[in-house]
Amino acid sequence: MQDLLNDLAEAAAGDPDKGEVASYIPELAGINPEQFGIAIALADGQVFTAGDAEVPFSIQSVSKVFALALALGRVGDQLWYRVGREPSGLSFDSILLLEREDGIPRNPFINAGALVTTDTYLAGSSPKEALGELLRFVRAAADDDSIHINEKVAHSEIATGHRNFSLAHYLASHGNLRSTVGKVLGTYCHQCGVEMTCRQLAMAGRFLVDAQEMPQLVSVERRRRINALMMTCGHYDGSGDFAFRVGLPGKSGVGGGILVISPGRASIAVWSPGLNRYGNSKLGTEAMETFARRTGWSVFG
Ligand code: GLN
Repeated sequence: MQDLLNDLAEAAAGDPDKGEVASYIPELAGINPEQFGIAIALADGQVFTAGDAEVPFSIQSVSKVFALALALGRVGDQLWYRVGREPSGLSFDSILLLEREDGIPRNPFINAGALVTTDTYLAGSSPKEALGELLRFVRAAADDDSIHINEKVAHSEIATGHRNFSLAHYLASHGNLRSTVGKVLGTYCHQCGVEMTCRQLAMAGRFLVDAQEMPQLVSVERRRRINALMMTCGHYDGSGDFAFRVGLPGKSGVGGGILVISPGRASIAVWSPGLNRYGNSKLGTEAMETFARRTGWSVFG
């Protein structure tokens, strides 16, 4: 495993095309695209890392996995009255389908759907309490109390997040938000501003791996469903491509991180800030494709 991860880090370093760093969040625009890290937490408790696996990065939309687990913990299947479970085939921040589908976002991983899951775990609490709950969940999952939110990234996104504000107003106009747009956006942007290293993220993903030694934070049924949504919707309009190339459930973020689950085997985190045209890590996706080929791991047998 260590040799494989070293090979992946080496291949990434040698690839001249690193993709484009997300520039619409000013605080992320200056990140050095030359970085690449990977970490794997195996079912037997061993952890292997390579490259920049100890460098913290902004997990961005990978946080939507933890938000979904929290929202389901709060309201269970009631959540599905407010958000769907179908891929959207559109970019993560698209507003197009919201009008046609009466303010019910297609799935919890596009921004509109994630605003609904944030609104769900925020209901009845202050943003501070809700974010405290989120951090408690992530820290328990990773077994690491040092995980924190980067306030600068959160504020940078609040200051420039016109599109997310529009999505939230659109949801509110359809009666699909319980808290105010300001509170939901503030909480959502802080949630996206959670910072982790590849090692921490691989550890945090262990609750989605079906293995005895791993934290059991959600029921078996819920774990399967979260994995199913990661497979079908975790990479937005690139989800089909990721399933085709990698064959494992994954959730990406515009910070360049991807959390990948191999059920029963491992939780894997890969990070490289340059993105492909779908807004998913370019080198991260390529590394996972090679990883899946070399290990033979796939949910498709
Ligand atoms: N915080 C980002 C946004 O809302 C998350 C998007 C992403 O990571 N794909 O635009």
